[in-house]
Amino acid sequence: MKLTKFRILLIILALVSIIITGCNNDNNKSKSNDQPLSRTEFMMDTILTLKIYDKKDNKILDEAFSRLEEIEKRMSSTIEDSDVSLINKNAGIEPVQVHDDVYYVIEQAKHYASLSNRAFDPTIGPLVDLWNISGDEEQTRDSIPTDEEIKSALALINSDDLELLEDNKVFLKRKGMKLELGGIVKGYAADEVKRIFKENGVESAIIDLGGNIYAMGKKLDGSPWNIGITNPYNPAASFVGILKAQDKSIVTSGDYERYFIYKGKRYHHIIDTNTGYPTENQVTSVSIISDKSIDGDALSTTLFVLGVEEGLNLIDQLDGIEAIFITKDKKVIPSAGIKDHFTLSNEEFKLENQ
Ligand code: ADP
Ligand code: MG
Repeated sequence: MKLTKFRILLIILALVSIIITGCNNDNNKSKSNDQPLSRTEFMMDTILTLKIYDKKDNKILDEAFSRLEEIEKRMSSTIEDSDVSLINKNAGIEPVQVHDDVYYVIEQAKHYASLSNRAFDPTIGPLVDLWNISGDEEQTRDSIPTDEEIKSALALINSDDLELLEDNKVFLKRKGMKLELGGIVKGYAADEVKRIFKENGVESAIIDLGGNIYAMGKKLDGSPWNIGITNPYNPAASFVGILKAQDKSIVTSGDYERYFIYKGKRYHHIIDTNTGYPTENQVTSVSIISDKSIDGDALSTTLFVLGVEEGLNLIDQLDGIEAIFITKDKKVIPSAGIKDHFTLSNEEFKLENQ
């Protein structure tokens, strides 16, 4: 494995999150069993860390990680024989029968596409390929796609041409179309880990899938978890503030996560489905707080594209889902239902209540 800048950043991020969750037990130092049962693996193109605080059974972690592997094998667009790759290979040819979980994630992805007027669009594949922003490389490039290339990729993107049929069959109607679930699959994966933990009697855990966090239950001292919201300008080392959370998913999408630089400008991995270019608005990161992580993951990508105003309007229509935006001029804007649970801790930023 190449230890690129991107991976080093991920490892630092994982350590920072270990520190913050570790701190949670500071006032409980006397109890030796407070150290969580923890495991970290590189999978789904990111660092996954699972921590269980109230059980010491490694088999639970084995089960969770094999489920994560199964999800990746079925839903990755870069694994040759995944269900998603089979759908893509058969675009414009014939429908493909997929596993129940793949069908469910695509169904949810289509739901968020229609809810957002296709700001979120799981058929984004041709543009993702064209831009090829994995973050997993040297960060400066000497070219970007041409307008022509972007135009022809854009013409292939439309979730209305992604059909869900009977018997778990999925069909991309036109040749060249490509399904890409990168904006939603980690959320589903977090929900699945939570389900496995619950079935095994776990009540206190932190599920961290490359920054997609699920804070399960409470800390062992009975208080809620403290989740740091990453400082987009110093993601490896600092937070803008702390969110108190109990049984919540906290998913963040940011322009600092995966990007390259061309002629001094940053090109990140969240694509505006109107222009075909990386989204350009006032948002630098957005975190979604929800019960289900699949909702949080789809919506973090969606709201990044929609921007602050439209994004907050959408959040207002959704029950039990909240958002925290961070803008390029360093404002932190929480939605109405979350501001009492969030504390700003970084003086460089200004808290704006809407
Ligand atoms: P990450 O996966 O890095 O945590 P996100 O959840 O925001 O971040 O997902 C970004 C990924 O979603 C991109 O890498 C790409 O695969 C996909 N994507 C990019 N733009 C869109 C979009 N407008 N709609 C749906 N998926 C997108
Ligand atoms: Mg997402």
